Amino acid sequence: MVTELSVSPASPFTSTAQSGAADYPGLDNWRSLPASQQPTWADQEAFASAVSELSILPPLVFAGEVDLLRDRLAAAAQGKAFLLQGGDCAETFEAATADRISARVRTILQMAVVLTYGAQLPVIKMGRMAGQFAKPRSSNEETRDGVTLPAYRGDIVNGYDFTPESRAHDARRMLRAYHTSASTLNLIRAFTQGGFADLRLVHMWNKGFTENPAHARYESLAREIDRAIKFMDSCGADFDALKRVEFFSSHEALLLDYERALTRIDSRTGLPYDTSSHFLWIGERTREIDHAHVDFLSRVRNPIGVKLGPSTTGDDALRLIDRLDPEREPGRLTFISRMGAKNIREKLPPVIEKVTASGAQVLWVTDPMHGNTVTSQNGYKTRRFDDVVDEVRGFFEVHDALGTVPGGLHMEMTGDDVAECLGGSDPIDEAAFADRYESVCDPRLNHMQSLEMAFLVAGALSKHS
Ligand code: PEP
Ligand code: MN
Repeated sequence: MVTELSVSPASPFTSTAQSGAADYPGLDNWRSLPASQQPTWADQEAFASAVSELSILPPLVFAGEVDLLRDRLAAAAQGKAFLLQGGDCAETFEAATADRISARVRTILQMAVVLTYGAQLPVIKMGRMAGQFAKPRSSNEETRDGVTLPAYRGDIVNGYDFTPESRAHDARRMLRAYHTSASTLNLIRAFTQGGFADLRLVHMWNKGFTENPAHARYESLAREIDRAIKFMDSCGADFDALKRVEFFSSHEALLLDYERALTRIDSRTGLPYDTSSHFLWIGERTREIDHAHVDFLSRVRNPIGVKLGPSTTGDDALRLIDRLDPEREPGRLTFISRMGAKNIREKLPPVIEKVTASGAQVLWVTDPMHGNTVTSQNGYKTRRFDDVVDEVRGFFEVHDALGTVPGGLHMEMTGDDVAECLGGSDPIDEAAFADRYESVCDPRLNHMQSLEMAFLVAGALSKHS
């Protein structure tokens, strides 16, 4: 995490509480537009008090960090860096423990070392972490055994337990989401600045992966990395400098009341930053061009992502660019395609071609998870490792054929030994779901499957570099 701030430490931001201070022009425009996937808070008093408290709490991230990330993403869009974005589908308050958070950060760092070697490029490390608490749902309700209750919309809105009390939308949860994000980010900052990210240590953890006979096929790549590190050591590389890494936070900007309440005016530039996270993305279900989410995010300075599903047309992409990146600013806009392994080779090229022909330079990232969700025979939401790998391969093939830049990977993954996705070299099968399926939303690659993915992508990247 970056430590230097480009803002005065004394009073970096002016609060723009909905209730109070000088509204920045347009920041509240979204309120008059259709906004899908929003909660219906029952207690208006609790809502008003939560929002006013949020709007004066300290920012979770700082403008200087956000600007630095924009520069890093601009490099990725030009093929000079690669983005690795990963974490839970839905973080939960309960799972925000030191062990779980450190396992996830460790897995991302391990993947990043492998990818850095494969790409021969800096890897931008970003968690779907410290704020990924709001979930879009295909239905407002869920029925179990004849009982119908509001659907679970993420811990920031309601609880996962299937009871009327837990499923009620409770605005006070926004405060808990803020504080859980703050403590998660605090731990991430400590880990990534305090020695935990030491390259030699991360490399040693990776040895555990390749020593498993199931992963023998990755041994030669692992050996090459080992030799590269020994070579650096022999040359007297400053490994102390490699003990710290930049690590950025991100989440889907779904719950607009929360995002608005955490938006502050940076005293240096006078511009609005959504300080809930470094990077924010708009989901596949909320990217309508004239609706609230696109409007709100068009007005903050953070780098913005948009998920693009298989129905996306080239014209949809151009309209999003015009609204979200009218200045064509490098690093501002990332398109995260999630077309499905079966669709990507056919559906992604026309979108890229239109965007390229317009002269816009966006960062193209693949999310190989959300287009490949299926239901297992025994009733669990799952994904096949091979489908996920196939979509990533398709992503590289498409960019190769068009001469454009495959700039990053967006994963739902965890550092724990869960069983939620099928397959991998040390395979997970359906029988394991009963004991080790923990996700409250979409299935994640477990620790080993995530590392295996990194080795496979590193192989694909090394053909590029
Ligand atoms: C997600 O990232 O968890 C998600 C809901 O994705 P999408 O908007 O692409 O469906
Ligand atoms: Mn998901």
